[in-house]
Amino acid sequence: MATYPTLPAFPDRINRIGELASDLWWSWHPVARTVFRELDYPLWRITAHNPVRLLRTISPERLEQVARDPKFLAHYDEAIAGLDDTCAARTTWWHQVAPNGQGANRPIAYFSAEFALHQSLPIYAGGLGVLAGDTCKEASDLGIPLVGVGFMYPQGYFHQDVTADGWQHEVYERLNWADAPIQPARRADGTACVVAVPLGNRTVLAAVFEVRVGRARLYLLDTDLEENAPWDRELSARLYGGNHETRVQQEVVLGLGGVRALHALGLEPALWHLNEGHAAFVTVQRIREGIESGATFDEALERVRRTTVFTTHTPVAAGHDAFPFHLVETHLAGAWGSLGTYRDPILALGAYDNGGGVMFNMTALALRTSGAVNGVSRLHAQVTRKMWAGMWPGVPEEARPVRAITNGVHAATWVAAEIATLFDEFVAPDWRERLDDREMWGRVADIPDVELWKARQALRSFLFAFFRERGRHRWMAERATPAQVVAAGTLLSPDALTIGFARRFAAYKRPELIFYDLDRLARLLAVERRPVQIVFAGKAHPADEPGKHHLQRIYCRALDPAFSGRIAFVNDYDLHVAHFLVQGCDVWLNTPRKPLEASGTSGMKAAINGVPHLSIGDGWWAEAYTGSNGWLIDGGAPPDDWGAADAADADALYRLLEEQVVPAFYERDENDVPRRWLRVVKETIRTVTPSFSTRRMLKDYVEQMYVPLLLQSKAGV
Ligand SMILES: *Cc1c(COP(=O)(O)O)cnc(C)c1O
Repeated sequence: MATYPTLPAFPDRINRIGELASDLWWSWHPVARTVFRELDYPLWRITAHNPVRLLRTISPERLEQVARDPKFLAHYDEAIAGLDDTCAARTTWWHQVAPNGQGANRPIAYFSAEFALHQSLPIYAGGLGVLAGDTCKEASDLGIPLVGVGFMYPQGYFHQDVTADGWQHEVYERLNWADAPIQPARRADGTACVVAVPLGNRTVLAAVFEVRVGRARLYLLDTDLEENAPWDRELSARLYGGNHETRVQQEVVLGLGGVRALHALGLEPALWHLNEGHAAFVTVQRIREGIESGATFDEALERVRRTTVFTTHTPVAAGHDAFPFHLVETHLAGAWGSLGTYRDPILALGAYDNGGGVMFNMTALALRTSGAVNGVSRLHAQVTRKMWAGMWPGVPEEARPVRAITNGVHAATWVAAEIATLFDEFVAPDWRERLDDREMWGRVADIPDVELWKARQALRSFLFAFFRERGRHRWMAERATPAQVVAAGTLLSPDALTIGFARRFAAYKRPELIFYDLDRLARLLAVERRPVQIVFAGKAHPADEPGKHHLQRIYCRALDPAFSGRIAFVNDYDLHVAHFLVQGCDVWLNTPRKPLEASGTSGMKAAINGVPHLSIGDGWWAEAYTGSNGWLIDGGAPPDDWGAADAADADALYRLLEEQVVPAFYERDENDVPRRWLRVVKETIRTVTPSFSTRRMLKDYVEQMYVPLLLQSKAGV
């Protein structure tokens, strides 16, 4: 187990700066970001905005210097006051809506296999993690007593290295614990928290780490302890690494170990939220606890149901974890303990035939043990009701208990400073507090076009500066070939219309749709006075060969002179790259095969920055598109005829680009301002920000799922 490093001592006047750096609260509060930027700007950039690392490497002289600098101290004091104000007990939105006495020792436990809070804590792969991370931050903002539970993953998810011929290699790096905003979680008596998890016929120990996220806390399990066998130490090494067998074991540790960790920390959650089926073994542990305290199996199950919320995330059948029974039986054996007689009814809770014969299905387990279930967009909830029909025999589709709570993004995390400044001035100084106030966002109309355009231009130029910096680094430090430097986007033009496409490379997302007609695309990109360029980024899952082939073909297009150097592929998509892309592109492209995109969130991040969406009407866009806030790609062909749908959707995409997107962007007034374009930009911000933020989303969770369950379980129904 890694020992938690302590930061050096700081000058007295700024002795709480380490505390500020170790609470991710800093990451969404501009004044705290300013503090670290001002400390040492070059170091801030080199560390990819990691204040813990910054503080470990900065020179003591520099610290002494800022401790005497009045301007710096003003920012420092303001940031510390903000952090203290957040953590002070005060009335929050939660207090206004929660049942009486719903206090901090009865939190809402939020289980997720990944959390994307900041690039300095690489324990996420993609959208699911971003949602979980944004949820924690929003819980802090709203004062919801949420504690996240997940894994530490010392090797995290992989870094993506793309060879000169476009093949993805996965590079795993051990996290430098000293640089991460974590600390050992402590029990009430001050000792570091380690829990014992029954796994098969043995016991595995898991250390528990704590991450501070303003008012919210995140607890992460790590099995890399000397006391464990070598193969058990590796269990939590990587996110989504390994085979089925590793995966079952990870999920047993997360479910059983997570519940035990919370108890060990003195927490007795009032509600348990399962973010995707990975954590569904939580319910098995809790059923066992119920039986041990004297309930019958049915009573214990009923009690679990009254206090469990489940969010399902994928309309792709193969995306739901399902294991052969013997695997579950083997690795869950320790969970029955003295309850061997309940083995069969527990295994029955997961039994489901999702196309490949009856298996132990984690989503089925979660559906059968939860009192409230939601899909992550209206369309996805509809698909879920159909897809899991076998769960509710005889129940008509509309009556199947799956509600829709559409995903959102944490605006303060994703909005660029240049855009936030305009909101401060023209929307409302307290827009962050009133994020879901739709009327207030009408004031976006008051932002002067010239200023909005200046901000958009600046953000695009930051994106290209970032590409050049990375390209230079690859050239210098990684000995990249000239072609790789070109592919990294170094030839892109800072004034051209830039389309962004960044997400996991999976076949259903149809990353190559825009290449359907190569000549038509090449013509579109090459127009002398109205050039268009496309930036791609994204990782393919290590085991996803077709995904890697998509990536490789796109990489080769980036190297193909036929496309005039106007296509780029940016390596190693992560939260850091995502920030530059969603803020700096002009249009955000999404071309999934409908209805396989559950929600999608990158388009929301782009939209709040004034980057309109150009997308198939799938996931969130099916309910967000108004006719004037972006563009809807709809070829009109039946979606299950894949060939026809691809042809029709590609044609529709080209037509939109040729007839609407490109002309609007390049139509300029006498001051070179694209008035028509900015009308779309403003509509994008106005309509998307209040409705597709985690503010709206988490309030929906609380009002539609958390509070009703809390009231019901209080009443003992
Ligand atoms: C937002 C985000 C995603 C999810 O994007 P989708 O549009 O939902 O596919 C994935 N990875 C990173 C790094 C992100 O920031």
